[in-house]
Amino acid sequence: MQAQLKKMKQLPPLSFDLRVKRLKQLATTIKSYENKIIEAVSKDFSHRCHQESQMAEIMVCIDEIKHALKNIKQWTRTKTWHTNWKFFPSKCAISPQPKGVVGIMAPWNYPFNLVIEPLVAAIAAGNRVMVKPSEITANTAQLTQQLLADVFTDDEVHVVLGDVQVADAFSRLPLDHILFTGSTQVGKIVMRNASDNLTSLTLELGGKSPVLIDDDYSMSKAASSIVQGKWFNAGQTCIAPDYIMISKKRKAELVTALKDKIRECYPSYADNEDYTAVVNQNHFNRLSQLLEGLDQSQVLPLSGNGEQATAQKIAPTLIINPPSTHPVMQQEIFGPLLPIIVTENLDSAITFINNNPNPLTLYFYSNNSNNIKKVRTQTKSGSLAINETLVHFAQEGLPFGGIGASGMGSYHGYQGFVAMSHMKSVYYQSRINFNGLVRAPYSQLKKKVLQILS
Ligand code: NAD
Repeated sequence: MQAQLKKMKQLPPLSFDLRVKRLKQLATTIKSYENKIIEAVSKDFSHRCHQESQMAEIMVCIDEIKHALKNIKQWTRTKTWHTNWKFFPSKCAISPQPKGVVGIMAPWNYPFNLVIEPLVAAIAAGNRVMVKPSEITANTAQLTQQLLADVFTDDEVHVVLGDVQVADAFSRLPLDHILFTGSTQVGKIVMRNASDNLTSLTLELGGKSPVLIDDDYSMSKAASSIVQGKWFNAGQTCIAPDYIMISKKRKAELVTALKDKIRECYPSYADNEDYTAVVNQNHFNRLSQLLEGLDQSQVLPLSGNGEQATAQKIAPTLIINPPSTHPVMQQEIFGPLLPIIVTENLDSAITFINNNPNPLTLYFYSNNSNNIKKVRTQTKSGSLAINETLVHFAQEGLPFGGIGASGMGSYHGYQGFVAMSHMKSVYYQSRINFNGLVRAPYSQLKKKVLQILS
């Protein structure tokens, strides 16, 4: 890894024409690998719904590439910047420059997408890239390595495969930037490792993304959207609804609406092609343990007709009113379990959210513009999605990232380009130069000029 990085650092950045060429090749190659990617991810998960992979691993990546290709000329232009009139007729500009060699560290939950989306930003910005995919989804990691080798030379994009030790060594490399996607816990380790080299970071982390439902909002519409967002990829999504906060008077209505929608979308789960499995035995055990210490009457598995959970699939499950001290309310769930907690009113829900780490996304179902404004201005979260789940991730120009415990910095579209660039400030001194008017020695005249200027 060290030698490869050293070699890449000595090479020039990718030219504008090469970036465009490679992004086009990347889109075509992803399309030609589509079925292989879907199969590899499914193999890694033991089963991943194919349509979910089509949307989340293929479609969103192609859209991101198209968006970059459409805008790259404008993004890369040196832009004239406002110049303080006192320095007239000098000029200021901002000139984007590739950071150098960027490291991308990806998690297992969308193992292809979360390599490709950061890569698009890094290549559009002209960087060379080293990639460390997740070891948990080894088939997809290998296929990604092969696919990227079909598009890029090894000195443009180099993929490193390996376990956590390799990931640890990767994060200690003197890279020029790291975009890390993963858990908050590992994000802290990566930040510590990167600090030795003062490597700049974009941290795309996780956490608990809450859902609020306003008293005026159609429960059937809210339930339909929540079911789609929560059980897509069996809840193994960084922005999956983690828990719902509901007023006491609407709790029973919510539970009924969710039951109806789940039974409509997933009448069974164990053999259902549309329902994705839990990625591995460790995560199955982790999720099973999360249910420990709860009263059985609080746990409602909502799919199937008495099917048994298997090592790879867990039924969509509601957890009614768990105590706030229970692990299910303390840890990111990252699976098909969904707690529902009762809240007094919107203000108490906002207080609850503000007393916990900043979420990656906050979901609010409401048609009341005053309440929407209240939630938007009185809470902190990476993103706020009104009346729909997940699709804000697919808006290629919209910055995506967390705040505080859910992350640092953001990417997608122009924001991704900026994250991977050094936005160099440039000052051009004009030949006509009045700056001498305020240089030492400070005569009476200069003192007067300074007084006028200040
Ligand atoms: P993880 O943090 O365990 O692993 C992520 C990456 O870190 C992997 O490539 C892994 O090899 C590496 N890694 C693991 N231990 C390491 C260590 N000690 N030192 C250095 N690197 C190490 O995360 P995960 O389980 O793969 O993914 C799930 C988490 O990712 C969830 O918290 C989820 O919310 C988050 N996530 C966030 C986003 C986002 O865009 N914000 C997207 C997807 C997932």
